[in-house]
Amino acid sequence: MPAINVENLTKRYGDTVALEDASFTIPEGEFVVLLGPSGAGKSTLLRILNGLTEPTEGGVYMGDRKLSGRRSDIGMVFQMHYLVESMSAYKNALTGALSREDLVRSLLTWYDTPDKVNALEALDTVGLLDEAQQRAGSMSGGQKQRVGIARALVQQPDLMLADEPVASLDPKAAEEVMGYMRDAAKERTLTTIASLHQVGLAREFGERYIGLRDGRVVFDGGKDDLTMDV
Ligand code: ADP
Ligand code: ADP
Repeated sequence: MPAINVENLTKRYGDTVALEDASFTIPEGEFVVLLGPSGAGKSTLLRILNGLTEPTEGGVYMGDRKLSGRRSDIGMVFQMHYLVESMSAYKNALTGALSREDLVRSLLTWYDTPDKVNALEALDTVGLLDEAQQRAGSMSGGQKQRVGIARALVQQPDLMLADEPVASLDPKAAEEVMGYMRDAAKERTLTTIASLHQVGLAREFGERYIGLRDGRVVFDGGKDDLTMDV
């Protein structure tokens, strides 16, 4: 898998510059932590990478292929997990792979699909194989986030993006979820970009750090270069 090249991304909302000339390259399999204060442009960057927002200028490439608009290549993990609470962990994971139409069919009938194996493997990766039939609504916050990670993995993406994936969890659950996310990324050589505001967690789990401030990349380096004031 080629590297991901972010080239001169700028995003303006009227007079607000959310992102200004951001450029960096991420080699395959790297676990990148995105740091920066509120309003720095982290969500904007992740939404552009995910194809949810169009950049005003610049682009994102995987090798020589433009990435935006091809969202099936990208697995997204949200702060608010957006699980369907009445559905099982397994069905929730499966929604990462199915079209809307196929999802409805899978709920109405016994619907066989090769994605079933992917969904169970993804649940296994996040340590929830035994809970596959458990209703998402009955799970703990940490377990729900792990189902969210499984849902992102099941489509076998080239890139996993996580926008503050553990912001709503207590420290112990947050650490556990980050551990599963890192192990899943390593196991699958899956390039990952996760925004985090907890410096301790960032130190523990990051491999590479990109710091944003006022829409600009103000830091790009490894753990040894990381200072507290990023
Ligand atoms: P972060 O995720 O680091 O908190 P954001 O990417 O959410 O930062 O925001 C960066 C800047 O862009 C902020 O000034 C924010 O108010 C602005 N912004 C983000 N999204 C929008 C939007 N849809 N419309 C207008 N302004 C926005
Ligand atoms: P866009 O496709 O324009 O990038 P977004 O998905 O970023 O849209 O935002 C969706 C909506 O949320 C926008 O209509 C915007 O008005 C609103 N929004 C989100 N964040 C902000 C913000 N920080 N300031 C103002 N409006 C925001």
